[in-house]
Amino acid sequence: MKKAFLYEESKKIDIIKKDMRSKTGGVWMVEIKVEISHSAKILLTNEKIRTLLIYSENAKQYEFLNSFAINFQKAKSEEVNKEISDWSSEQVLLTNDLLDRIVNSCRDEWKGSTHPFDTILEEEKRVPCDLCGYPRLKELFYIENKLNQKKLIVGSKCIEEFPNIEYPGRKGIKQIKKEMSEQSKLKEITLAIPGIEREIEQWDKELHKFDILIPLEIEQRYLEIGEFTRELFQKYLAGKVSKQAIEDIKHAKQKKEIILNEMKIYSAKNKDSIFVATNKIIRWLEKQNKLGVIKKLKITGFIDENTIQEITEPNFIEHVSRIFAKKINYIGKLDFHKEENEFMLSLNNFDIKLYFGVARFMEYFGATLLEVKPKISFTEINIFKIGKIRNRNCKNNTLIQMARLLNGFEVEISFNDYGGRYDYLEQNVIDLYDKRVNKVLEEDLNWFINQFKPYAFVIDQERLRKEVLNFVNSHPNKRSMLTKDELRDIRLSRFKDNSKEEEETD
Ligand SMILES: [Zn+2]
Repeated sequence: MKKAFLYEESKKIDIIKKDMRSKTGGVWMVEIKVEISHSAKILLTNEKIRTLLIYSENAKQYEFLNSFAINFQKAKSEEVNKEISDWSSEQVLLTNDLLDRIVNSCRDEWKGSTHPFDTILEEEKRVPCDLCGYPRLKELFYIENKLNQKKLIVGSKCIEEFPNIEYPGRKGIKQIKKEMSEQSKLKEITLAIPGIEREIEQWDKELHKFDILIPLEIEQRYLEIGEFTRELFQKYLAGKVSKQAIEDIKHAKQKKEIILNEMKIYSAKNKDSIFVATNKIIRWLEKQNKLGVIKKLKITGFIDENTIQEITEPNFIEHVSRIFAKKINYIGKLDFHKEENEFMLSLNNFDIKLYFGVARFMEYFGATLLEVKPKISFTEINIFKIGKIRNRNCKNNTLIQMARLLNGFEVEISFNDYGGRYDYLEQNVIDLYDKRVNKVLEEDLNWFINQFKPYAFVIDQERLRKEVLNFVNSHPNKRSMLTKDELRDIRLSRFKDNSKEEEETD
């Protein structure tokens, strides 16, 4: 090719030399015509170039080129060759020297349109290429002249006539062609499988449409098919796999439907089970950041002895509170206070209410609901141990019951409010009167109630007496116990001091 070009060029020079001699009256007086160069001829016989010259501004300053392009736009090569052989020497020289540069500046006048391309799959809707006249383009590129705003539609071959063209977003032709190919593939696959792109996008979200957690075994199968389909779809768009991918994706969709149906059946069958992991429970666990618990739940889809103590989601607790209530109605009436997230047990035999933090209650006794051995056995005495007494009246009633059971024993509870001047509950003090030494042991009232209330509530007098006696016998303050009189003096003087101080500060 290069050789041929050099040959043509040298011939041109030769001809010009001869021409000069003829004009200066040299030896050879033959009239020799200047010939059009090979490279110019190639450009001029190309319909695309002629069209480019017509629609671009840069060619218009060369009148003869412009009218040639218009008159011979659709002409055959022979007609074009015949026409240019009639051109004057001046025109030929101009063409030989400048055509290449003119064509290039014409190419530079064009940019990509805002809407860069289209693909038309339907044969009957296809349009011709504005540049070469190819009748039915499947891939359409839109370009626009920057100087005269003329718009052209060209095919994927003719767009290559503009190797430096830039589309909005500074995209080159390579990028646009890639996008075009993806769009074309997307159209193809969407025609074959309507809605496939959205379906792939929504694939995983289907799992959240069930009211309950889908067990890992089913979920994994479902997600794996989703992953496979997504990858195949992407590869197809990128042109990395054959059309077989469409059939494979159709097949994957069938599998998906089968598993979805399996999940529907599972959900319908289990959604009313108390211990099934509901979506509400999962959302709640996510909020608590208990992701490890979710992981455990996924294995079976059900709450079990490994997870029940971790779940205090209000709806679930409301359900289980009814089961607990039935189980312990022989002791009292159990209520669930949703706002405080606690249980309240109103005892049958005493005017006393016990409170339980739901988390603690579930930690100890949750497993009993699953017919599994709980952390501590679900007995009356253990329930009383864990419950907390809160209000004054209940404390007082507990104290009265304890005093009743200890009455006449070696250690009794003594009350003396010194004519209403001393409030045990307010002072949080209990007096344990040891008859053996005729002295009183002071102890923290709340602590004492909490420690010994179970024996009082189950009315186990013997056990209560034994426990209290052991407690007093091994008490570290045993040696510093005071008589009732000493205690009265101290308390009342403290009271006097307090009132004095109050007077002074008045
Ligand atoms: Zn074309």
